Amino acid sequence: MVMIISFIVSLLNIFRKLLYKFECFLLSFLPNDPISNPVSYAYRSFKVHPLPVIEPDHLPVSFDKAKAAYEAKHNKPLKPVFRHKGKVYPAKGTVCPHCGATHEYLSFNNGQKKSQIKCKVCEKTFSTVKSYSQQVVRKCPFCSKKLTLIKSRSSFDIYKCMNPKCSHYKAELKKLSKEDRKKYKQNPSAFSLHYITRVFNASLDKLESIQLKIIEPSNVDLARIRNSKYVLGLALTYYVNYGLSLRKTALILYEVHDIKISHQTIANYAQAASHLLFPWMDNFKHDLNPYQCGDETYVKVLGKKAYVFFMCDVKKKIITSYRIYMKRDTFSAIDAFYSVLRKFREVPENLKFVVDGNPIYKAAQQYFQLKRVFFKVTQVIGLTNDDPVSKKHRPAKQIIERLNRIFQYSYAVKNGFNTLAGANDFMCLFTTYFNFLRNHTTLGYKPPVQLDCLKKTHNMPNKWNILLDEALDYYIESTMEF
Ligand SMILES: [Zn+2]
Ligand SMILES: [Zn+2]
Repeated sequence: MVMIISFIVSLLNIFRKLLYKFECFLLSFLPNDPISNPVSYAYRSFKVHPLPVIEPDHLPVSFDKAKAAYEAKHNKPLKPVFRHKGKVYPAKGTVCPHCGATHEYLSFNNGQKKSQIKCKVCEKTFSTVKSYSQQVVRKCPFCSKKLTLIKSRSSFDIYKCMNPKCSHYKAELKKLSKEDRKKYKQNPSAFSLHYITRVFNASLDKLESIQLKIIEPSNVDLARIRNSKYVLGLALTYYVNYGLSLRKTALILYEVHDIKISHQTIANYAQAASHLLFPWMDNFKHDLNPYQCGDETYVKVLGKKAYVFFMCDVKKKIITSYRIYMKRDTFSAIDAFYSVLRKFREVPENLKFVVDGNPIYKAAQQYFQLKRVFFKVTQVIGLTNDDPVSKKHRPAKQIIERLNRIFQYSYAVKNGFNTLAGANDFMCLFTTYFNFLRNHTTLGYKPPVQLDCLKKTHNMPNKWNILLDEALDYYIESTMEF
């Protein structure tokens, strides 16, 4: 009997294996199923809007590279352009936007008009009227035909693929119902079937002004508050360091410390502290490492999803970008990169960012490259999920994960924010805490930035007050007129 049963079981097993093989055989005829072939979901959705293509030799290069290429090609050392008497040459301060050659290597290319300059080093010509970003040829990622610049605004340009044979256009046309097709024939401008893309084009000065405008002065003057400075420090310690809500902070101050203070007053103090700390903290020039990592995390602002673009020094664990944006777009990535770049005393040549697979980072890198600001962007898909990540980027993955965890701990009880400004106020306090006050186990129980003025006390409310004094000194110095 046992023999018969074991025979039947083994027969069933063989049958099951055959069935599985047959199933696999059948499945191999199906198109690639995205669910059994797990690329990150978020990553796939990015593929909907591919970037326009710029030929690699159109993208700016460093002067040293261009000089080496010139000398190799002509087999002689590079010399400035020979200046003929009586001829006009580009003025001092003119720089080739492609290779960075200075005015000695430049000459006018179109005689009297003087609107086109030729560079001896990279042998490219450029216009003095249009921005370099507008002079670069952008191609459609679907059909490789040149895109047409259809609109130019103060901070961005809009490009469109006009090719009637473009695969993207054809595919979009196919999706239309019969009725929509009729409507399209009557009024093509009501439909957007062609590939269209927005290219951010503002100057670096404009970016700087955006950074500075974010926080306006607070209505609360911390020098005139009714409670002592120590109470202010205590409130900040509970609200930021211990991640308590405003109401719990008020409760603990009353029940443990016998201090009666409303949660609204604590909110006002926190806002005033944030506004005072922001210019000092954000303009702090750090000794940063050229290895930075970045990631987006979510918060809720008025019930909507908003994005924190965290960037962090991998070795020193200093947060270098912490702003919240309502959109996860190229501008947010550009602004986040810029906020890191301005924290360096000098942007290092080997600067590298490790970020997730979102193409906005590549678009942002291209924006800076066209402004001759060079850095590397390494995209690791699955920087924050469970996909296998190469060993090389594990430190970046770990630091970002830890930062996200610490942030979520402080943020979890806040139940979202009522305004974007309020959300950014909290980010400023959180970053001040993370960079200057929080001891990290991996840094030998020291904060990422060790200030001498903080070493004299272990008391956290006092530490907050020392930082507020530093920030006040910075504010007075920076607004003083000489
Ligand atoms: Zn050049
Ligand atoms: Zn096209």
